[in-house]
Amino acid sequence: MYLYFVKAEKSTPCGLPARSVLTSYYKSKHFKCRTHDPWNDFTSPDQTILCNDINQSMHCQLLAGLIHRRQVLRLGAVFASAFLRAISFLERNWRKLCDDIRNGQLNSFITDPSCRSSMSTLLSSPDPCLADEISKICSQKCWKGILCKLWPKAKYIEAVVTGSMAQYVPALEHYCEGKLHLVCTMYASSECYFGVNLKPLSDPDDVAFTLLPNMGYFEFIPLGHNGTLLMDFDENEQVPNDKLVDLVNVKIGCFYELVITTFAGLYRYRVGDVLQVVAFHNKAPQFRFICRRNVVISIDSEKTNEEDLHRSVTMSKKLLEPYDALLVEYTSYADTCSVPGHYVLYWEILHYGTKGDPLDPNVLQECCIAVEEELDYVYRRCRTNDKSVGPLEIRVVEPGTFEALMDLFITKGASINQYKTPRCIKSKKALKLLKSKVSASFFSPRDPKWGPN
Ligand code: AMP
Repeated sequence: MYLYFVKAEKSTPCGLPARSVLTSYYKSKHFKCRTHDPWNDFTSPDQTILCNDINQSMHCQLLAGLIHRRQVLRLGAVFASAFLRAISFLERNWRKLCDDIRNGQLNSFITDPSCRSSMSTLLSSPDPCLADEISKICSQKCWKGILCKLWPKAKYIEAVVTGSMAQYVPALEHYCEGKLHLVCTMYASSECYFGVNLKPLSDPDDVAFTLLPNMGYFEFIPLGHNGTLLMDFDENEQVPNDKLVDLVNVKIGCFYELVITTFAGLYRYRVGDVLQVVAFHNKAPQFRFICRRNVVISIDSEKTNEEDLHRSVTMSKKLLEPYDALLVEYTSYADTCSVPGHYVLYWEILHYGTKGDPLDPNVLQECCIAVEEELDYVYRRCRTNDKSVGPLEIRVVEPGTFEALMDLFITKGASINQYKTPRCIKSKKALKLLKSKVSASFFSPRDPKWGPN
């Protein structure tokens, strides 16, 4: 049950068709006219993948997955975020899906003719037994391990769970109770396919990608250990030829920014990804994805990259665990409305246990300071010594806020398959949305520890 989605196409002002890479692929004959492979068969009829309406597509694809629940061996989506969105859709809509199965009739809100005709063969007759089975599982209060109950033969979940997707690993593990492998097979972009994970069963933290040299010409800008540029040229400048390192010359342990030259015509294009060489497969270097170069939040002289932010949040969110609460999604914002400016983190928290009480404000204040203690030396110096950065703030947002954020970005042209929550928000509309969903806000109660050493 792989949940794939397309997005509507557009034309550029001069009339060239424009669409995302995955939409292009799903609409191509490579996908539509593929030969039947019993080992790579999808539950979703192609027409449901090709439907432009995300809700209709999601409803039909989940319905098909539920109908085939006893045959499904693998679950997944391109990115972990899209898969979690599907679980959330299921949580809200399982009753409607069960009604369809019970009556052998597709919900009337599905108006796409291709979806209706492709689903009619799957829903050929009412199946009240299956509807009862699913309804019994879904009506359980706690959804921990729900995936293994709904799809009992599933062996793994396939999705990108590295880089900014790493934050979804705990939620995925919650929904499968840690019983399914999380498999992250590919590292790719719209511009070029980069590489594969030769050890698909490795833990998400240990995933390394082997770049495929026939996909394009790969070169590397050497970086310092915190992902900073070592050389003297502007972030967005063309890289001087003599500064680039070839794929055969990268060194283990070192950090690089990826530069590609592609068959489609990109010449020495800076993808914006920071990678670290962690091993070799024969002579082929293997890379760990570290972060995207440009995702930084900065108030004063400090610069926090995605990895630092993510590591700090990961440490801090552990404080929620004793309260049966899970951080499901977060983003950050450099609030400079007041002087000094400060970091704002928007947190969406899932309460999964029986302890339904709101969290004690002290816990969230401790989360604020725990994030700050994990941020780097320069940040802590700015906060404690220079006082050029104010106390970090956590704004707790209502459940569903990050889905609404995703919807907002989708209406602005992002694709559901390729959508990644921005780790730092700058768009005014997105900030307005986040602000409107804040249910409580907490500040660091003290300065983080700082010492010149
Ligand atoms: P897009 O621009 O939507 O094609 O996304 C391409 C970008 O997604 C890459 O440059 C990476 O930053 C990110 N990405 C793709 N695959 C992975 C992966 N396996 N792990 C982490 N990030 C990834």
